[in-house]
Amino acid sequence: MARSIPKDFIDRLVDDSDIVSVINHYVSLSKKGNNYTCCCPFHEEKTPSFVVSPQKAIFHCFGCGAGGNVLTFIKDHEGLSFVEAVEKLAELNNVTVPRENTFGNKDFSKIYEINALVANFYFEALKDPKNKSTVEYLKERGISGQTAKNFTIGFADFNQIELLKILQNKFSDKEILESGNFLKNEKGFYPFLRNRVVFPILNSSGKTIGFGGRVTDNSMPKYLNSKDSKFFNKTRELYGFNNAKKDHKSEDFIVTEGYMDVAMLSEYGINNAVASLGTAFSQNHMNAMFKLRRKIIFCFDSDEAGLKAAWRALQISLKNVVDDKTVRFLFLPEGYDPDSFVKEHGKEEFYNKLDRAMVLESFAFQFLKRGKKLDSPEDIRQIIFEFKKLLPLVTSEMLKETLMTKFSSELNINKEILLKEDKPKTKTYVKKITKRQKDVFENEFLLLLFLLENHKNTLSSYTDDFFNFIEGTKREEIATFKDVITQINKEDLARKESPLFAKAMMTGLNLSEDEVVDEFIRASDVIRLEFDELFAEYLINLANKKELTQERKENLQKLLNLRDNNPIQEEELIQNLNTYS
Ligand SMILES: [Zn+2]
Repeated sequence: MARSIPKDFIDRLVDDSDIVSVINHYVSLSKKGNNYTCCCPFHEEKTPSFVVSPQKAIFHCFGCGAGGNVLTFIKDHEGLSFVEAVEKLAELNNVTVPRENTFGNKDFSKIYEINALVANFYFEALKDPKNKSTVEYLKERGISGQTAKNFTIGFADFNQIELLKILQNKFSDKEILESGNFLKNEKGFYPFLRNRVVFPILNSSGKTIGFGGRVTDNSMPKYLNSKDSKFFNKTRELYGFNNAKKDHKSEDFIVTEGYMDVAMLSEYGINNAVASLGTAFSQNHMNAMFKLRRKIIFCFDSDEAGLKAAWRALQISLKNVVDDKTVRFLFLPEGYDPDSFVKEHGKEEFYNKLDRAMVLESFAFQFLKRGKKLDSPEDIRQIIFEFKKLLPLVTSEMLKETLMTKFSSELNINKEILLKEDKPKTKTYVKKITKRQKDVFENEFLLLLFLLENHKNTLSSYTDDFFNFIEGTKREEIATFKDVITQINKEDLARKESPLFAKAMMTGLNLSEDEVVDEFIRASDVIRLEFDELFAEYLINLANKKELTQERKENLQKLLNLRDNNPIQEEELIQNLNTYS
């Protein structure tokens, strides 16, 4: 399997994970004996058939057959690839995924070096008397020298020949172009940002990965960001995040709309603000923040664009607000953004506003009732219709409940109505498990897996022939079983990712050593009888050595009777089988 993540790491990660708390993160489990149960998240049901075993570190649904270990759960529940599931689990466990050095995993240190040099060059440019007007502009906006320094705010002139020369002394043309700070046409190199105030963008490890540029006059576009690249992805990065996460006094992040907001709030001693980079707020952004703090406050303009941005953030939040995580929405009075508000009303007033920011339930209601009349049954139905579209996005049962309480009391309608479906329910994250035709051999295979996993020592002298058959078989029908059995044999931990393995381990059998051996021989014979083309030869060999049990004798007869042209010797054998006991 091509995995760029070291296998040892994955094994340890799975081992270190508490399957109950991870699954409980997505659904709410209740304790039942040694296990935990709930209604299965992978199929619709009214009584719980979904079981999690903390001892065995697996889950299994007796209803639809979903099962596996903690990675399987994350993979199937979130619809992720294997690698993404590992990353997600690592994130939940607060560990970093190490990467094996593989092709494609490029080293961007030269790019970071170029960007740091460029950022510093632009910052130093503010000291040049010819750029005095830019300094005036920043001062007028309220940015002090100290804040400019903290954020390495600078100025990109029209002409940057001097900067280009410095770069060309140290770096190749290819590296300079790749950094995105200069472009090239038939006349040669020219700078990407010109005549703009420049805000370097740092990634979460503090490397300069791009720049945002804002005009100081009315020219367009007002804002210009570095293009996305392998080292700069706007759906992952947030302006100011590297600073904000170091502000350990804060227990939340404030998400604003622009760099100026972040810089200006910092000017007033509010250091936990970030801004998205001209793209909508994304799942990645939320993951990055929720990893560190339990609360996010979205602070957007109260114009239509601001509301839309907040609504999108709300939709992402529905999925992510679980446990004690929380989001709030703050809309400043019309015409204000955080930048202008804090400048005019000061820090305390801004904090007062933050304290009174809307909870998720309130914003959901306020947004959906915009332009609607609560005394109009028609409008109420419209609001309910829109509200119901949100429910499938909600992960937390608690949040679902509080949302329903909010809407039912505001609209003065029965809560049950909000759950009733006009149409069949669709769960967005539910992965359809395609139900296989009930396999008659499945029970035997499950038993074999259980025996091989739990009674390895008892069976050690009986398993060779069966393993030889398994290793040699190319039968399509049992390919999955073959994989798991091979993994058990090799003690490969990946076996625990398999739904089949999980299902087998749920078989709570309590057998004596003799029973273990008998059951193993019986079940493995049933399988070989069906799938092993050489099973007859194997039994004939045993018959010749007079080592056939009664059961195997019958099996051999069955096999021989199925053959059209039995050679004379075999005819004799059939005769013998009938006589000896
Ligand atoms: Zn199920």
